[in-house]
Amino acid sequence: MASQPMTYDVVVVGAGPVGSAAASACAGLGLKTLCIEEHGTIGYPVQCAGLLSNAAFAECRVSDRSVLNRISGARVLSAKGSGILVDAKKTKALVVDRGALDREMAEHAAHDGAEYLLRTSVCGIRDNTLLTRGIHREQPISFKMLIAADGPRSTIARLLGMQRAKVFLAGIQEDILHQGDPGFVELYPDAAPGFFGWAIPTAPGRARVGLCARTHAHEHFAAFIKKFSSSSVHLVTGTLPLGVMPKTYAHRTLFVGDAAGFAKPTSGGGIYTGVRSARHAAAVAAEACARNRFDDAGLSGYERRWKADFGNELALGFRLFEMRQHMSGQDVDDLIRALNTPDLLQTIEEFGDMDRPSALVKKLLLRPGILRLFKPLMQAGLRSLF
Ligand SMILES: Cc1cc2nc3c(=O)[nH]c(=O)nc-3n(C[C@H](O)[C@H](O)[C@H](O)COP(=O)(O)OP(=O)(O)OC[C@H]3O[C@@H](n4cnc5c(N)ncnc54)[C@H](O)[C@@H]3O)c2cc1C
Repeated sequence: MASQPMTYDVVVVGAGPVGSAAASACAGLGLKTLCIEEHGTIGYPVQCAGLLSNAAFAECRVSDRSVLNRISGARVLSAKGSGILVDAKKTKALVVDRGALDREMAEHAAHDGAEYLLRTSVCGIRDNTLLTRGIHREQPISFKMLIAADGPRSTIARLLGMQRAKVFLAGIQEDILHQGDPGFVELYPDAAPGFFGWAIPTAPGRARVGLCARTHAHEHFAAFIKKFSSSSVHLVTGTLPLGVMPKTYAHRTLFVGDAAGFAKPTSGGGIYTGVRSARHAAAVAAEACARNRFDDAGLSGYERRWKADFGNELALGFRLFEMRQHMSGQDVDDLIRALNTPDLLQTIEEFGDMDRPSALVKKLLLRPGILRLFKPLMQAGLRSLF
């Protein structure tokens, strides 16, 4: 016989960084909160390169326990031989151990009063009750509000029949021995058509080397990794959803992080927008519980909030991503050469922001040489954003 449902104000599905940020914020707002995670250990398996801007790391509100390395710039290298070095001469980003980061965020949420139910997976929804399977066998759990933080494959989105993100990229990465400059990320735009490859130093002599691609990711990766040593000690595979789902709320549910498709289409980074979306969701869930009103009209405030915060950045990022799909190796090489002037490099160093690229894009588009190269982007309708 099935047991009686446990009842919560908010149930968060998924204990990734976004789920724990949501659970922490909900519990902090006085809501009886449960976070459900299908794995027994939070933070594993890792599906991330662990590169976070200073701002993204600050959003996670953790100690520097998970920090492995500090990054002050990037080298962008074209297969045709051109390259640029952007050196901010100060820390712009951190490389973290994602497993450690996720666990610290969960510890904070638990400290704030959120309960965790591990090794339990959500497999159904009936009205306001989740059907779960796991450590307690089959356990129904009732909620007033649900926050779906269940990542790129979002079971909740599927169960509720929601439309998903526009594009799904496959990511592959290995931790290898690599003698690069530990203060600089290396970016390889030609490693994957339509996106890019990376070498992110985790320590002197070590790097995470990977790429994301729309199709044939394994083949592209096999060709790319030949540039490096083959002494892999850790293989990561994952999915990156790009292009936000058309509606991010419905049926008492708010979609956050990768479940909603909030990863940045320019870099693939999902922590900054994801954690911010979690806090917007918690605020709206608290309002709904306080008013005891859970209809879609009331929940639409969630979409207004995240759009006002980072909606334009994601929209611009997706247009840049679309433009990238039309760029040949020669176009990429031309762009890198055009950017390689002291004046433009200084502009990139000054205005470059991994999380909010629009300020830099606007500055660059004011330069005639760059504007000419960005023509396909203008044709894709970018002008309407300015
Ligand atoms: C190769 C690669 C490299 C990346 N590199 C970076 C980077 O350098 N910087 C960056 O900011 N972002 C990066 N990202 C993106 C980043 O990893 C994600 O945006 C981020 O993990 C999203 O967090 P989340 O909490 O929304 O989802 P996730 O981290 O995917 O967490 C979802 C959680 O939900 C759980 N879950 C799923 N379904 C259920 C269910 N039915 N029941 C219970 N639990 C469930 C999962 O086990 C998981 O723990 C990268 C992604 C890839 C693929």
